[in-house]
Amino acid sequence: MFDYLIVGAGFAGSVLAERLAADNKKVLLIDRRSHIGGNAFDHYNSDGLLVHKYGPHIFHTNSREVYDYLGRFTAWRPYEHRVLASVDGMLVPIPINLNTINALYGMNLDATQVAGFLESKAEHRSPVRNSEDVVINKVGKDLYEKFFKGYTKKQWDLDPSELDASVAARIPTRSNRDDRYFADTYQGMPAEGYTKMFERMLDHPNIKVMLNTDYKEIVNQLRFRKIIYTGAVDYYFDYCYGKLPYRSLEFRFETKDKETAQATGTINFPNEHPYTRVTEFKYLTGQQHPKTTLVYEYPQAEGDPYYPVPRPENAELYKKYQQLADAATNVYFTGRLATYRYYNMDQVVAQSLSLFKKLRAAATETPLLNGSRNDVVSDLIQRKIQ
Ligand SMILES: Cc1cc2nc3c(=O)[nH]c(=O)nc-3n(C[C@H](O)[C@H](O)[C@H](O)COP(=O)(O)OP(=O)(O)OC[C@H]3O[C@@H](n4cnc5c(N)ncnc54)[C@H](O)[C@@H]3O)c2cc1C
Repeated sequence: MFDYLIVGAGFAGSVLAERLAADNKKVLLIDRRSHIGGNAFDHYNSDGLLVHKYGPHIFHTNSREVYDYLGRFTAWRPYEHRVLASVDGMLVPIPINLNTINALYGMNLDATQVAGFLESKAEHRSPVRNSEDVVINKVGKDLYEKFFKGYTKKQWDLDPSELDASVAARIPTRSNRDDRYFADTYQGMPAEGYTKMFERMLDHPNIKVMLNTDYKEIVNQLRFRKIIYTGAVDYYFDYCYGKLPYRSLEFRFETKDKETAQATGTINFPNEHPYTRVTEFKYLTGQQHPKTTLVYEYPQAEGDPYYPVPRPENAELYKKYQQLADAATNVYFTGRLATYRYYNMDQVVAQSLSLFKKLRAAATETPLLNGSRNDVVSDLIQRKIQ
């Protein structure tokens, strides 16, 4: 008998498991994968190098609460990520900054002049409807074509004009020489890796972890009061409105017999090669080793769901699932898959901490959930679809 069944042992599920267990609740945490940590899972490969199985994960946040909370389970290795983009035969800083402009156009502008330069290149568009509009409106066609058009096409298999404005709106342009990829107050990597941090979080007598277990396989065989569900929302409701579209990635790892292979943590390739970027893990992990491992990211349509495709019709489809999720009693949908949103790790941690506070505030005894899951879910679907 458990108070909570938590589906998914990534950040969303593990933070809630830890908080609830500390609050004296009995938790069963399941994951269909063979490991904890969700997409942040890291491990040592056969050469003994620490790598991130689902692509490079760099921790950054402006939230002191999130940073301190995770700091209970790990020491932090200070790390500020830097990215170069391969453009016109050069490696230049991205996000675009003063050095990027000076290198690309052979100029020697200062911080005050570069704003004027970008302004002279910008082509004002009104209304700003999509990602192409956002970028051309801000930096003009030339920089748009050098940095964004090809990268976006590879990443999403869509032209920037077909993507929500919100995607490009997140990308900053800087008139100073700040070449850090993120500008957050707290930036770092878990000193012994993410998996070690998750292991410490989940090491509690009130938490039972079951791996290699899909939610639908076991839900009717167990008794619990509440469910926290961090898996895909369309899967939970048996795809009753159809599948929510995702973009996936294939990660190809390569270990080289030398200490370092590239000039910085990540190199982006907006225009050449089928992959979008290459990351060398040693920059992130700080590991000393005579060899080095790189990961190449190849965007693809099929595979694990990584990025919700930000288009208005998909947001509409998600809204229908959200209505079903809102109507479910004693089931809480949280995390990136259950809410069909791209979130950074710190945002997911913040969400889980705040859901925990809500659950604790509303802590009346709930009866055990019983009746088969299929009955409950199909009843919900029937009521909403009619
Ligand atoms: C390539 C890539 C790079 C990223 N880099 C960064 C970065 O540098 N910095 C950053 O802050 N964020 C980064 N992110 C985002 C980060 O991965 C997410 O914020 C984080 O993983 C979200 O945690 P989550 O628990 O919501 O989801 P997940 O980590 O995906 O965990 C969900 C878990 O639920 C399990 N699950 C799903 N369905 C079921 C089911 N039916 N039954 C049982 N288990 C189930 C899954 O197996 C999974 O383990 C990156 C994402 C990607 C794709």
